[in-house]
Amino acid sequence: MENRIKKVVETIKNAKHCVIFTGAGVSVESGIPPFRGEGGIYNDLDTNDLRLSTYISKPIKSWKTIKQMLFKAGHDYKHNKAHEVIAKLEEAGYCKAVITQNIDNLHQEAGTKTIYELHGNGKTFVCTKCGHHDNFQEVDIDVDFPTCSKCDYLTKPNFTFFEEGLPTDQYEGAIEHIRKCDLIILVGTSGEVFPAANMPLHAKKNGATVIEINPDITFFTPKIVDIIINGKASVVFSLLEKEMF
Ligand code: NAD
Repeated sequence: MENRIKKVVETIKNAKHCVIFTGAGVSVESGIPPFRGEGGIYNDLDTNDLRLSTYISKPIKSWKTIKQMLFKAGHDYKHNKAHEVIAKLEEAGYCKAVITQNIDNLHQEAGTKTIYELHGNGKTFVCTKCGHHDNFQEVDIDVDFPTCSKCDYLTKPNFTFFEEGLPTDQYEGAIEHIRKCDLIILVGTSGEVFPAANMPLHAKKNGATVIEINPDITFFTPKIVDIIINGKASVVFSLLEKEMF
């Protein structure tokens, strides 16, 4: 592991445009379960409840599932060492952007500034009728289904439901960085959710070096990964921080 960390640090220092691409695994050590991998909740969820059409037609059932998915770890989970070191890499000029599939806002809370949220953000709400945005604190979540503070109609967490497209501005901003990057670091993502998983494939096609940090092998491992660090995100980023700064 030590030699690989050294190699990763050297690769980051030599990169001109490094992008970090994260998934649910980066937040596991904050207490938020992933979809897949150890402790994954995917098999326990009725994924129909994550469809926009179900949310609108059966909000009570759908909200119960979403609440379990979003808030199983409690309402006040905190960023961990991996989020912190990722923010530090940006501050030091080594990382140009974070592209995340996560909806938990933890990168921002740790200090990351340039971030593209491919699947939106679960800590804000958008009304299904008037489009008004509410912050998490403005909406009562311990009810049958959440309602808009302005018109009292059904509001929905502002993450991408099945049947919805990715947020265009986030997608386009992320793609700009994917085109430019010569290094992409994949952290805690299974690579099974498309079209997001196309981004690392594009980066590799454009000649970027690919580093993967994950305790398991993933869809990406045999296909595009150049340097594998098998380990938990916060452990690996702690070691990386010691070697780097
Ligand atoms: P995933 O659940 O499909 O896969 C999680 C990956 O993280 C697995 O490869 C697993 O081996 C790895 N992992 C587990 N523990 C880890 C650790 N401590 N350190 C590093 N890696 C670890 O996640 P995905 O690829 O992001 O796709 C799932 C989708 O579900 C995403 O679109 C995301 O929006 C959503 N989701 C988000 C959250 C969140 O915001 N925290 C949580 C669950 C699901």
